[in-house]
This record gives sequence, C-alpha cells and structure tokens, in this order.
Amino acid sequence: MLEDVTVQIIGAGLAGCEAALQCAKHGVSARLHEMRPDVQTEAHRTGDVAELVCSNSLKSTEPGNAHGLLKAELGIYGCVLLECTERTRIPGGKALVVDRQRFSAEVQSALDDAGIEVVREEIKEIPDKLAIVASGPLTSPELADSLTGLLGVKRLFFYDAIAPIVAADSIDMNVAFAASRYGVGQDYLNCPLTREQYDRLVNELLEAELHPMKDFEERCLFEPCLPVEELARRGKETLAFGPMKPVGLVDPKTGKRPFAVVQLRKENAEGTMFNLVGFQTRLKRSEQKRLFRMIPGLDKAEFLRFGSMHRNTYLHGPEVLLPTLQTKVRPDLFVAGQLTGVEGYVESIAAGLVAGINAARFCKSEDLVQFPEQTMLGGLLKYITTPNQEFQPMNANFGLVPVLKQKARGKEKRRLLAERALEAAGQDRSHLNGDEI
Ligand SMILES: Cc1cc2nc3c(=O)[nH]c(=O)nc-3n(C[C@H](O)[C@H](O)[C@H](O)COP(=O)(O)OP(=O)(O)OC[C@H]3O[C@@H](n4cnc5c(N)ncnc54)[C@H](O)[C@@H]3O)c2cc1C
Repeated sequence: MLEDVTVQIIGAGLAGCEAALQCAKHGVSARLHEMRPDVQTEAHRTGDVAELVCSNSLKSTEPGNAHGLLKAELGIYGCVLLECTERTRIPGGKALVVDRQRFSAEVQSALDDAGIEVVREEIKEIPDKLAIVASGPLTSPELADSLTGLLGVKRLFFYDAIAPIVAADSIDMNVAFAASRYGVGQDYLNCPLTREQYDRLVNELLEAELHPMKDFEERCLFEPCLPVEELARRGKETLAFGPMKPVGLVDPKTGKRPFAVVQLRKENAEGTMFNLVGFQTRLKRSEQKRLFRMIPGLDKAEFLRFGSMHRNTYLHGPEVLLPTLQTKVRPDLFVAGQLTGVEGYVESIAAGLVAGINAARFCKSEDLVQFPEQTMLGGLLKYITTPNQEFQPMNANFGLVPVLKQKARGKEKRRLLAERALEAAGQDRSHLNGDEI
C-alpha cells in the first residue's frame, strides 16, 4: 500500500463521484475537486454533485436493451450511483427516471457517509501524483490545455458531430452493395437512391423536427461537420455533390451509377456496426428513425446510436488510454467519464467505476482489472482503447460485444447476448479483493 495516499479526483460529476465512492469502498481515501458553483459550465445549472445536465432519464432497465444490460452489469460490480438512482426513482415506464435534485442529494449523502470531501476549486493543472481526471465533456479550458500538454496530443476533440450507427444485420443487403469508390476495395456499404428517392429525402430533411440549439452550440458549428439537414438547406443538390455523391460507384444490380448514395462505414473491426457517413444531425430521434429508414436498404435499420451535436471534450482514447483507464504516459494518472470517449450518463458512471476500482488497486499495489469483452462494460472499454482512425464517442450498444456463435436475430439475439454478458460478469470477481467474495 502506498502510504497516506489520497486519490485526487477532478470533477464531482457522475464519473468523479462514482470513482470516489469506489475508492472508499476499496479502502482508499479520495478527495473530489469541483469548480462549480463558482465556475459554471455552459450546461450545468447548480453546484450540486452528480448533476444531470439535461434529461432526467438514464434510459432502459431491460437487460435485452444495451443500456439496461450495462446497468445490470454495474449492479453486479457494485456501482454506488446506480443504488442512488434506485432510491430516487420516479415513474417512467421501463426507463430509469429520477428526481434530479433528490438524486444529487443522495449522491452527496453517500459521499458524506464515506467521508469524502468535496473541495470547491477549479483545477488548472493536472496533479503530479495519483489522480483521476473526471472533468467531463465541458472540462474547463486551462485544464484541457494541461491535459493535452501532458499526454502529448495536439488537441482534445472539442466538438461532437455524431452520425447515427446502425446494426449490420439490420441492413438489407439485397439493396445495399459493398464497394469503395473506383473499385478499390469493398470497404463501404452503399445504399443507392434514384433522383425521386433523393428529392423525397431532401424535402423531408427540410421539414423535419430538430433539437433546439443553445447559443454556445451554434457558435460551435463548423464547416467540415455541418449537420445533414443544414447541408440540405444550402441547396437541393448540395448533398448529391457532398456526402451523398455517387462518383466512382456502380450498383451491381443495375450496372449503372446511382443518382446518389448513402455510404455506410464499418464502425468496429468485427463489422457489426456501420455509421452513416456524413449524416451527423440535430434531428430528433423519432425523426432520425423515420427519415433514415426512407433510405433504400435501411427500411428496417436498427439504430445503435443516434446522431447528435454538442460541445464535447474527449480524448482520442485509442491513442492515450489503456483498458484499465490509466493514461499510457503515466500509470498513476487515470481518466473517467465522458472524457474517455464514452457517451451518456450510465456509460460515464461505468467509466467512473472502472477508474475508481483501478486507482484504488494501484494505490494498494494490486493488479489492475480489465472487464470481460462479452460484457457491455468490457465492450465499451475495448472500443475506446482499440486503434481506430475514425474514433468517435460511443454509447452502450450490442455491436460492441463479440457476435454469438449461434444464429439469432432481433429480440432473441439481444436476450442471448445479455445472458452471456451477465454470466461473464457474474463469474468475473477479479475486481474484488479475496475477502470480499
Ligand atoms: C449539453 C449536454 C447534454 C447532455 N445530455 C445528456 C442526456 O440527456 N443523456 C445522457 O445520457 N447524456 C447526456 N450528455 C452526455 C454525458 O452523459 C453527460 O455530460 C455526463 O454528465 C458526463 O459525465 P461526466 O462525469 O463525465 O461529466 P460531468 O457530469 O459533466 O462532470 C464533470 C464535472 O467536472 C467539473 N469540472 C470541469 N472542469 C473542472 C476543473 N478544471 N476543475 C474542477 N472541476 C471541473 C464540472 O463542473 C462537472 O461537475 C450530455 C452532455 C452535454 C454536454
């Protein structure tokens, strides 16, 4: 055991609080440093710990749903914030919806009970001793500079223009065809559109319902990442000459170049997930489903991640992080939460749990733990730390875990994947100390 060590945790958001509580659970002292309420972010409104910045829903609790499965695994691994959600839950159907003020108060009281101090100060420099950086997607600029300097990366990614991702087995391969432009490979799937289909899609894009933008988000819009609906607004043909251009592509079914295409690019090495290239969007989720299912080949698309746009500070995980959530440059420096490249409340809590457990183990000179790849948690960690030039933030989804040996589709596939994940998590006690089992 490193003598008298306290783990310094920057940010008392979802990940930071979970990490601190895991340290305490594992017998190691932790201190949180939180800049609010003195210094606010663009999205937070209070000085509360674990403030939910937007929705008060933490999504599904059904294990057959990726977010539900992640929660079930976190339950097995002893997640404290999940317990706080249960105590502050309000009716919301199958979704885990909480009273946000009571949830923050519950987390505060868990911190108090564990003797964890929350120091109200903005940290501008990465500490030179054991620490967890959990400062989130709205990390203050000076801290972000200090982190990039230390990690030796040119920049953090400052803006998220996220395109939707669909499950590979929900793409109709009788319509889509595999080809790269000018016949130099088959890396992309291409959904071909006729002039009529293209016009209909563009018209719908012009009419569709959008998420309203906050001021700071409008300032963040920049040319290379314009949302697809914004491109449509610039002119009827803009998309046909932009992300939907068909040049160098021939549809093998017609032997002709289509009028336009939507290209789908593999999102993981296994090829279970594909993203819609250039289709970053602010459309409401229901609209994304409706419109993007109009694309030939995607009429039954299962959306694993919806498109979104907001300011986001995140690391290029594959370059700088290990699956233990240690930084590659400094084994005593951990990263947690959305900063790691995961996306979403529960995913951020999950990354806090991993960093907290491992920082505590580091402190006690114990082996650090990794999580089984069959689990949603293991799949997420693998995704954010596996080399990937096109790396973008990722939420929980079934494309992250290895494919099943047996053939199954839809609900049955998800049920089997969930069963396998929970069995793996149940058997995986490596995160516990022998005496806790
Ligand atoms: C505008 C917006 C809306 C979102 N809406 C949703 C949603 O509805 N559902 C969903 O699942 N996900 C949503 N997310 C994504 C994400 O899940 C949340 O941002 C989540 O809170 C991330 O958890 P975190 O612990 O990594 O960061 P946070 O919860 O943001 O915690 C980070 C903490 O660090 C503090 N901090 C930052 N810099 C410093 C510093 N230098 N010194 C000290 N403290 C510092 C911040 O004040 C903050 O309290 C949203 C993100 C954004 C930006």
